[in-house]
Amino acid sequence: MPLPDVERLAMFKLLIIMLLAPVVAFATTYSLMYFSPGNEMEQRLFINAGMDIVHVYEDGSIDFVANDWDREILIEMGLFCTTRIADLERFYAAQMGSRTMGGFMTWDEVQAWLTQLHNLYPDITSAPTSIGNTYQGRPQLVMKISTNNTFTADDPSMANAWYDGLIHAREGAAMLNVQSFMEWLCENYDRDGFCGFQATWLLENREIWCLPCNNVDGWVYNESTSPGGGGMQRKNMNWSAGGDGIDLNRNWAVAWGGAGSSGSPSSSTYRGTAPLSEPETSNIDDFWQGHIPTQMHSTHTYGNILIYPWGWTDDPTTHAAQYATQGEIMVQWATGETHGPSAQILYYSSGNTRDHSYGLYGAMSWNHETGADFEGFWPTATQVVKLTRRNLRSYLVTAFMAGCPYNPHVPGTPTVSPIGTVNPPFTVDWTDVSGATLYGLQRLAGYSVPLDNPGSSGPFNLINWSMTTSQSHSPPQCYVSNGTGTMTWTETVSIPSNGGGRLSFWSEYSISGSYLGALEVSTDGGANWYYLQTFGRSDMTWRYNIHELDEWQGETLSFRWESFGSSTDLYIDDIKVEVWDENDFISTTIPTSSWTFSTHPMGEYWFRAFAIDPDFGPGWPSDAEYALVQTVGIEEGETGPDLLTTLLGTISPNPVTVSAAISVNLAASDAGNAGLYVFDLTGRMVKDLSGMLQQPGSSVVHWNCTAEDGTPVPDGIYFCRLQTDDLQEVRRLIVIR
Ligand SMILES: [Zn+2]
Repeated sequence: MPLPDVERLAMFKLLIIMLLAPVVAFATTYSLMYFSPGNEMEQRLFINAGMDIVHVYEDGSIDFVANDWDREILIEMGLFCTTRIADLERFYAAQMGSRTMGGFMTWDEVQAWLTQLHNLYPDITSAPTSIGNTYQGRPQLVMKISTNNTFTADDPSMANAWYDGLIHAREGAAMLNVQSFMEWLCENYDRDGFCGFQATWLLENREIWCLPCNNVDGWVYNESTSPGGGGMQRKNMNWSAGGDGIDLNRNWAVAWGGAGSSGSPSSSTYRGTAPLSEPETSNIDDFWQGHIPTQMHSTHTYGNILIYPWGWTDDPTTHAAQYATQGEIMVQWATGETHGPSAQILYYSSGNTRDHSYGLYGAMSWNHETGADFEGFWPTATQVVKLTRRNLRSYLVTAFMAGCPYNPHVPGTPTVSPIGTVNPPFTVDWTDVSGATLYGLQRLAGYSVPLDNPGSSGPFNLINWSMTTSQSHSPPQCYVSNGTGTMTWTETVSIPSNGGGRLSFWSEYSISGSYLGALEVSTDGGANWYYLQTFGRSDMTWRYNIHELDEWQGETLSFRWESFGSSTDLYIDDIKVEVWDENDFISTTIPTSSWTFSTHPMGEYWFRAFAIDPDFGPGWPSDAEYALVQTVGIEEGETGPDLLTTLLGTISPNPVTVSAAISVNLAASDAGNAGLYVFDLTGRMVKDLSGMLQQPGSSVVHWNCTAEDGTPVPDGIYFCRLQTDDLQEVRRLIVIR
């Protein structure tokens, strides 16, 4: 079908723009520069110049990116700046290797990825939907992630949370972080485990809107000039005013035209001719009018900082206290970095996204400057992998807090009362958590603790790390980084496909400026590492860190702590890894702080309780509490052994001196084909107890610590093994006389 004339004309214009664009851009060179204001007037002059500031140091000195025009202005103003990196595009090109777009997705790949994500998860995602075209006519594609996944029909009872990346076209890690969050939500939805519960709760109670690639034209332009990555275009592709585009993050309506933005078309922070003059910003504003966000999270790179309104003034917002509280929770969960109002801790920036979404729509509004200075705009291949999920849990906090934007709080964690040895019926009790209306109770089986290290010499490979007594969470000592180095757990943990696990530890740090500390996970034996949590503050406060691991069901995990920078002091103490073979949610809608089992299979179990706040959602689960369930409560009409699953229970006493009582459950189907054996440390079978396992049901088998020939076995460690066609369970016992 022939295009109407108007459309043809538009396409022709587009073609001309695309053909002309590279010629103009090659004229400018982007430099990383440094400025240390000598006095207040110099500082004010510099702010008014509207530079793209990437880092503010504690002494007030500044790293910024300048193009040709910016550098001329600074000379005219008489401000003396030093050049750190003269040509950033050349600098980045040298470290890019052979990857397409430096390891980030091209625009074509992003579109295909969005379509694929929707095809994989059609029930919880909308189709990628354009909210309007960019200046050059490309769609701004938003995906809604929610059980209410109809793009056009909002459920007013479900709060809106908005996420976007790449408003600045050279900030690929911003797009990558939003993509990773989208994948996490989809992959964990309906998964059996605590991470699964978190994702499911969010998708059933929130409408999560994601625009991973905002400034599409700028990204496509960087693809054309630097296909391997390293392109430095920041602004959009509306070059009609004579410069090289409009800084979309200065084009929003609230305080448009104020400090920290420029009226010069060639400036890095050119604000455009009017508020929302650009389609990229006005499309989003139109969309927000119909889907008002209660939390807005716009991601940038770089500088390891979390900022919020205001950017246009030093004055505090009405919700300064709420911002501080939520910011603290976001960094404790995830990114451990400095947070504050952007005008105060970073720089003035009028007409930015945060001020607009907060000022006009009341959304609690956030901006991560993702990645350390050494990672920059175009990180190395290794760094790209690490950065993938750096903001993940911080995004989760904003999604949860979309239900309590002006009353930020996280539910407390209950404590489960000791259970010990019980016979059904029995009750599991836990402490009340204020504000919680419901509780969840999780039952674990096959629980073990592969690592419980109090900060003393343990199974770690320390490279430029050591132990110290100068600090500790639990005296007398802990681990500390001595500069750039790693502390790698020499073992691994496999997360069973129906189970889960948890890594917890305490951390304290003094990490300033452009340095970084991190906790990292690998799922491929250390070939690739991902940030689970980063650390970047100097407040030397011990914080408890929890990482639930069921999102990696079926995978084997390695962990390490890493530190970057000569003055990086990262202290780590009391590291614990827990893992379990099975987890069941007994209920996630318990209205009181107890649960009574009228019947229960025999065996060893562990129980975890967690609080569910109606506004926030689930808080962290309690520590696991041990229970030995001895006999089965039998309801009328039921028979005992059919209720049982086959399992090896406790051995007592252990250590044993005379005779060990080994408790065993045998399902009716396993009667007659189950084996029970004792092995020594060399793997030699010393005793076959299978003959005592003929009847289904619960029984106790006694072993008098003798071998097959009746002679006493030597003192030492032995293993008791229960074996059927499809099960093998092993418990350790010690003989000491
Ligand atoms: Zn940016």
